[in-house]
Amino acid sequence: MDRIAKWNPGAEEICVLCKNASETRSHLFFECSYSTRVWEHLMKGVLLNDYTSVWSDILMLIKDERMENKKKFCLSYVLQAAVHALWRERNKIKHEEKPMPIEIVMKLLDKGMRNKLSLLRTKGAKGFSTRM
Ligand SMILES: [Zn+2]
Repeated sequence: MDRIAKWNPGAEEICVLCKNASETRSHLFFECSYSTRVWEHLMKGVLLNDYTSVWSDILMLIKDERMENKKKFCLSYVLQAAVHALWRERNKIKHEEKPMPIEIVMKLLDKGMRNKLSLLRTKGAKGFSTRM
């Protein structure tokens, strides 16, 4: 919305998820109080000391060659799933539809990640042992 507001000065650029800041990419992913809660729920336990909610730092982590494959897979998978889910919720509010409760959003994303890891383990994908 910060970009749209540059073309159309009358456009409302306040984040609809928290109603507390301008909606920039970095705010929406994941500096917003709503989205950081979702991201933290999903990634704090995976990234541990590497945990961040800063967009540019997340992209740096994805490019980090030293990161363990399983951790990198989780980060990449959850990033795309969380961006999609948050964008969908944001659009629901923008179009005056009822958003899902945040607990349900977090639960669906968590379940999606667990199902994906379970599938990879079942298929015997390299690096995805039963230890996961
Ligand atoms: Zn916000």
